[in-house]
Amino acid sequence: MNDTYAFKMLIGGQLVSAPSTFAVVNPASETVIGRAPEAERADLDAAVAAARGAFPAWSRRPIDERRAVIIAMADRLIEHIDELKRLLTSEQGKPHADAEREVMGAAAWLKGAASLELPREVLQDGPERRVETLRVPLGVVGAISPWNFPLVLAVLKVGPALLAGNTLVLKPSPFTPLATLRMGELVADLLPPGVMNVVTGTDRLGPWLTAHPGIDKVSFTGSTATGRRVMESASHSLKRVTLELGGNDAAIVMPDVDVDKIAPDLFWAAFRNNGQFCIATKRMYVHADIYDRLRDAIIAYARTVKVGDGARQGTQLGPVNNRAQFERVKDLIADSAAQGHRIVLGGDTIEGPGFFIPVTIIDNPPEDSRIVQEEQFGPVLPLLKFDTLEEALTRANASEYGLGGSVWSADDAVAQQIAEQLSSGTVWVNEAQVLSPLVPFGGMRQSGLGVESGREGLMEYTASKTISVRKAAAA
Ligand code: NAD
Repeated sequence: MNDTYAFKMLIGGQLVSAPSTFAVVNPASETVIGRAPEAERADLDAAVAAARGAFPAWSRRPIDERRAVIIAMADRLIEHIDELKRLLTSEQGKPHADAEREVMGAAAWLKGAASLELPREVLQDGPERRVETLRVPLGVVGAISPWNFPLVLAVLKVGPALLAGNTLVLKPSPFTPLATLRMGELVADLLPPGVMNVVTGTDRLGPWLTAHPGIDKVSFTGSTATGRRVMESASHSLKRVTLELGGNDAAIVMPDVDVDKIAPDLFWAAFRNNGQFCIATKRMYVHADIYDRLRDAIIAYARTVKVGDGARQGTQLGPVNNRAQFERVKDLIADSAAQGHRIVLGGDTIEGPGFFIPVTIIDNPPEDSRIVQEEQFGPVLPLLKFDTLEEALTRANASEYGLGGSVWSADDAVAQQIAEQLSSGTVWVNEAQVLSPLVPFGGMRQSGLGVESGREGLMEYTASKTISVRKAAAA
């Protein structure tokens, strides 16, 4: 693939361009690396019509045939891992090694989804009547994904939606559309026309999709602010919604940990993917007895981490993905500086080009400061000192978000108790961000609605249907 490669949308089994295109920028160099089609409303209408047209046959196909198609899609991604990895790095910014992990993860998520079963339950079976519930697909799913993990967060929706028998219109973020468009091209021949459609566009396309009368369900991953707009728009035609939104995950670090051993783990819990991770540790509460030692160990480790162009060998953290997010993270750091917080690492700027922010650590800022209360979604972390567990839990739980969180302790029983009291959709103990296609994942409060993955995630792409039979012999 070269710079002039014309990425196309997948609509009704055809690769389609649009009259106009928009530029996709490499965040490490701020140069244009490709152009994506700017879908017109007619393109979306065509994609939805194709998905509706494909639905009856796809939903009636035996589930094992749908399973086989999804597994073939996963294998196709792996066959093209090198190309997809390079695309991901150039549009998202993440280092090649992380991009490769993302492609492998996308394949694993498809295969994991393909291994799930749709339950069928007999609730009553007497001489007169048999009552059974089964799960049926909803119709056409509109899937909207963000820019931090473009491929994996897209296939998290594609796998279960298709397995359940739905058809799909997928819209990636305008900051990172290229790997998703390429995925559409690569799998096009594996799917009956219209079963999966990929459309791209800038700001107008998402609202068109969520309001489209031909879409039955919206599965959205992105910010809480956009999630609210999605739900409002979807409400007009009573679409089902699954919303995977923002987070402000707390880690609680107890005084019995081995400080030197866990410092790198805690660093990566906060800074993996340059902090652009919904479940990054965004507030780290550390017991006063070990606070200074742990702060210094994390700083010492952070100094060894290489920030740079993700395409360069040895880079561990890339740039922030886009200018708006770059400005937002810089604004949060500037606010901390203006409030007189102690910035003990980073805080300065890195000469452009590229949206680079050095790893930045803020030493025990006040609980009500913006850097503690807001989702930073970038390479900056507040370390926060606590004296009693009760106080730590109160502070950790006093967030409008409730996505993930973690507990770090040498005592499994104590850690388990703390985990049960942390108010979020997932809590990890002595690890962070461990996810599986077989385990449900979702947020509480402003972090979202519903779950993805696992059997529970699959159920969100289905409706419950009851068949109640008065037996012929009894009639
Ligand atoms: P975003 O909300 O700006 O955009 C997400 C997607 O929504 C993009 O495809 C965008 O084009 C589209 N969109 C924008 N406005 C829309 C509208 N009015 N209607 C429909 N679609 C619209 O989010 P982002 O900046 O791409 O992603 C970062 C956010 O996503 C962070 O808050 C992060 O925590 C969250 N996130 C959550 C999860 C999770 O699983 N809970 C995972 C990853 C990211």
